[in-house]
Amino acid sequence: MGHRVLAHYVAGEFRSGGAAFPLVDPVTGKVAGEAPEATRELVDEAVRAGRAALDAGWGAAPAEERAAALRRIADGIEARSEEFTAAEAADTGKPRELAATVDVPRAIGNFRAYADLLYGRPERAYTTSVPGWSGGTGQALNYTVRRPLGVVAVISPWNLPLLLLTWKVAPALAAGNAVVAKPSEEAPTTATLLAEVVDAAGLPAGAFNLVHGHGPGAAGEFLTGHPGVDAIAFTGESATGAAIMRNAADHVTPVSFELGGKNPALVFADADLDAAVEGTVRSSFTHSGQICLCTERVYVERPVFAEFAERLAGRAAALAGYGPMISAAHRDKVLSYYRLAVEEGATVLAGGGVPAFGDARDGGFHVEPTVLTGLPGTARAVREEVFGPVCHLAPFDAEDEAVRLANDSPYGLAATVWTRDLSRAHRVAPRIEAGIVWVNCWNLRDLRTPFGGVKASGIGREGGEYSLDFFSEPVNVCIQI
Ligand code: NAD
Repeated sequence: MGHRVLAHYVAGEFRSGGAAFPLVDPVTGKVAGEAPEATRELVDEAVRAGRAALDAGWGAAPAEERAAALRRIADGIEARSEEFTAAEAADTGKPRELAATVDVPRAIGNFRAYADLLYGRPERAYTTSVPGWSGGTGQALNYTVRRPLGVVAVISPWNLPLLLLTWKVAPALAAGNAVVAKPSEEAPTTATLLAEVVDAAGLPAGAFNLVHGHGPGAAGEFLTGHPGVDAIAFTGESATGAAIMRNAADHVTPVSFELGGKNPALVFADADLDAAVEGTVRSSFTHSGQICLCTERVYVERPVFAEFAERLAGRAAALAGYGPMISAAHRDKVLSYYRLAVEEGATVLAGGGVPAFGDARDGGFHVEPTVLTGLPGTARAVREEVFGPVCHLAPFDAEDEAVRLANDSPYGLAATVWTRDLSRAHRVAPRIEAGIVWVNCWNLRDLRTPFGGVKASGIGREGGEYSLDFFSEPVNVCIQI
């Protein structure tokens, strides 16, 4: 990818100019492009463009029409998938293969999944009818229709930029809303490509708008505090979610939040240990630990603790070809947790520092995949989200204890249970305070299932009809008969 110069997309037009900020290649630390910083006026224009698209009939268009538009967007991404892959790898530093096998196909899948949900079975998503009881005042027919919310703000993070943006944009458009999206300032290139695809797909001007910029005191805050925004769908850190909620409170704007995690894995002695080790390598180190679902706490039943620890540490130490942290600031944060863990008394079983490559990557933001052990449950390194390639191992002796340890966290996003005992799996999974529990697997996703977190990990659920529920308002119509 050459030097990238990005543009906003507002009211069906690409807009540039104004203050800009640099895009930094995380692999080398060098500047690789620039993106414009949206002013409050531009954000306001984008919200008004969304409203104008709704007034012109976008939200009331037949479901088939919107489904067809979503399919054209999916086809448009697919036709340019090489470009999307290169852009995602350039922005985030993730291996191209990861972008080509996860981020880009999932973005395409997000649009197709919601087109499928709309087209062919609109009755399930949009109407129920209940003739009969009406509180003693006579017979009535009640039916419920779903209306779009209006103009929705979509704010997304840098770790899976295209996947997480489209995960919200697709259902928002499917439900008939107009969207104003603000991608992360750290990884905005694929969002701009998406705007090009939407433009070519012929959506009405203003149905999808894209503004670039930072969060606090900038585009993110202008958007989430805007009185013309009817809902906010946000993925990012829990502290940012709290700030957005405060900002949205003045206008009582509804929110859907996918936030941080400190996800546990429970490895029982009866587990297939090969699968548990390989699964934990994936769940802790994929995308260098920069996925909200990644495992950072591993609890292992004592009879297999030593073997599991030795094997996982061996695999972590031998990992090659992994990508960097997103930025110098995030690299410094992750390294500060590596140091803190040692100060708190951790034993480092693998990694713990910065790798040396002897090439241009030494200017980038890599840290070593790291396995720790020996910390008490009160240690900050065990309680706080690091969002890097690191996990902490601790032993347990009983099933109840394992559940208690898993739940001993302010977060509750995802958990993984490794066991061959079917009854145990069914007993343990529902007791874990998390929105998603995987048994003998990790990050196996069916887009129709509910996705989200409990406690500090989020508000609401996304996925399939859960997203359509958030992005629409049920309106009950009651007719006396
Ligand atoms: P972040 O919270 O720093 O930023 C996310 C987005 O919010 C960015 O677009 C940013 O510009 C914007 N933003 C920041 N402050 C804002 C404000 N005051 N008002 C409005 N917008 C604001 O998160 P990040 O560093 O980009 O992403 C990493 C975090 O996201 C981790 O905590 C991770 O666990 C979480 N995450 C959660 C999920 C999930 O599905 N639960 C998925 C991916 C990432």
